[in-house]
Amino acid sequence: MIASIQRFVRKTDCLVARAYLSAFRERGGLLAFLFHSLFHDEREIALNQVDPLQRTTVAQFRAFIAYYQKHGYRFVNPDELDALEPGGKYALVTFDDGYFNNVLALPVLEEYQVPALFFISTDHVRERKSFWWDVLYRERVAQGATPDQVYHEAQALKSLTTEQIEAELVARFGADALKPRGDIDRPFTPDELRAFARHPLVHLGNHTANHAILTNYSAEDAHAQILRAQEALEEMTGARPRTIAFPNGARSGPVVQTCAELGLRVGFTIRPAKNALPAGQSCSGLNVSRRTPSDLPFVRGGADHHSPPYEGRGGGGETTHSVASKAPYGKPERPWTAGSGLVQVDRFSLHDELPVEAQCRAYRSDLLLYGLFRAGYLKLARGWANAST
Ligand SMILES: [Zn+2]
Repeated sequence: MIASIQRFVRKTDCLVARAYLSAFRERGGLLAFLFHSLFHDEREIALNQVDPLQRTTVAQFRAFIAYYQKHGYRFVNPDELDALEPGGKYALVTFDDGYFNNVLALPVLEEYQVPALFFISTDHVRERKSFWWDVLYRERVAQGATPDQVYHEAQALKSLTTEQIEAELVARFGADALKPRGDIDRPFTPDELRAFARHPLVHLGNHTANHAILTNYSAEDAHAQILRAQEALEEMTGARPRTIAFPNGARSGPVVQTCAELGLRVGFTIRPAKNALPAGQSCSGLNVSRRTPSDLPFVRGGADHHSPPYEGRGGGGETTHSVASKAPYGKPERPWTAGSGLVQVDRFSLHDELPVEAQCRAYRSDLLLYGLFRAGYLKLARGWANAST
């Protein structure tokens, strides 16, 4: 039901975008995109080894890159974020989690000379374990559950820590539940990640040590999650990341502060919005009227002098993640605090119900309903998850 409403709104956005872009010139800005698994083709998706999420195939990924290049967007790497020109059209590709299947992106990135930023959950790499949402998906689908049921079960688990979720899955599905099935679902190994990180188009970022929904953790544990990932990535690749993608998009003032103290400079959300350039301006259309000036997205420049904003929760990733309701470590919905020193970048995701080009066109538009009403869907989804547990 909720997913149907979301799909309807996204389709409406595509239609509105077509009209908007034929009547108005799009504003400049940075469009950042979030991907997870990448599949060779539909056949791999049908194996049900992983939660297909956005069901992105290599062909769709290529079509996405080609679309934005054709429309004058320049793909940038994270080190260029401080130097983007107001009025310019930029795009940034990101992948979350650290799936080995992300190597499938490389030939496309090389073909179009596009950099990409990969956020790695480092315990998964070191311990060679599956991601919990994939375990839930494959086990429950094998038992006959529908993808919709699995989605709501996953939402309910997101109020827990990863350690609690994994313990529950092992209790339900056996001691081998977290063991990867093959190259489709497994994370990188440390050696593979080392080699991957040496590629000139590859950039790595922090996704916490254990894919921690940070607002479910104590201050001390959240700090440890962020730091452990920083150290692991530095040990594996020789470089300490300056970017973090918050698992599930979940963050709070204290979480952001901790990130800044640990040397991180840019925080990536799963809020679907265009990032304004330069600092302090929003190009997210209708969304702007819902914010206070201090909540405007994307503060340019880095660490030292801003009070980036925030916006509550992750949503483009509703398919994977939503935000936990209550937490010991700050409230997820609170704006980023002044002086936190972390630049915010919001990200769009592609969805599987519409052609890639239609979605790419919609994200260029400055008038999107989906982002505007997203908080409402998520509230509904959480209510549903609570009611079904
Ligand atoms: Zn993630």
